[in-house]
Amino acid sequence: MPRSRVGPDEIRFAEGDRVIAETLARLLPEIRRKGEDIAGLVSPSIRFIVANRLPSLFSVLRPTWPVAAICGAAPAAMGAFAALAFDPSAAIAMSVSLMATGPVYRLWKGMRQARMWWPHCGGLTFGHPGWWRPTIVLHYPIPPHLPVAEGLCYPSPSADLRLSAIAAHEYGHALLQTAYGRQAVPTWLSEGFSFWLAEQIAGQPLWRPESNACVEEPEPKGSPYDQFGTEAYYRLAARHYWEVRSLADRGLLRDALSAPLRRASELRPQLRVP
Ligand SMILES: [Zn+2]
Repeated sequence: MPRSRVGPDEIRFAEGDRVIAETLARLLPEIRRKGEDIAGLVSPSIRFIVANRLPSLFSVLRPTWPVAAICGAAPAAMGAFAALAFDPSAAIAMSVSLMATGPVYRLWKGMRQARMWWPHCGGLTFGHPGWWRPTIVLHYPIPPHLPVAEGLCYPSPSADLRLSAIAAHEYGHALLQTAYGRQAVPTWLSEGFSFWLAEQIAGQPLWRPESNACVEEPEPKGSPYDQFGTEAYYRLAARHYWEVRSLADRGLLRDALSAPLRRASELRPQLRVP
């Protein structure tokens, strides 16, 4: 797979997507600069993959060096443990299952969700905070705009603008995901910030002003983000966009994004109706 480097970032692409990879390479420095500037955070090195099909788990995994070291040392430690233990086979079975269950389950769940989202979404960000460095997969050709969103957001006037908005949105996730170590970033903040950054890069509004009314809706039960492309998904996304937008308009966004993120929940705009 051909690849190109843009500063600390890397883009992988199929030969047929060379033009789109070059467009992305031109966009990246501005996305990085604006993202860091708006958030007041330092961006990690990011791998982009431009693909029409969801890449395999192995292409998106980029363990940080402590995780890689633990994975490398684990078989040796298990061998020593098994040799010393009373019953070597039971010891091996127990340690393997204990060590593998949690991470394997999380990976399996993540990929299952990614496969569900993939047909409709323009991009996905992979990277467990503090454990995996981010990989952003951009879905190209970008799936068509879903009519269900039309009352809430403006359709993109051009494919280039859509690409830059999607790349910036995913970049926003990657930036926040890696900034706080293993502290989870609340969904409203991560999604809202990513939409806000996408709009800054696109240079024109992506959400209709009337979608601000979604801020007044009670928070839905369950997670509409699990049902990508439904009306409930867009209503929640609009709400999160306006929550972060109101922080940015009042000059509070950097404050909200300062670690350890307690300020973010204090500053989160309150509902005007129950
Ligand atoms: Zn998102």
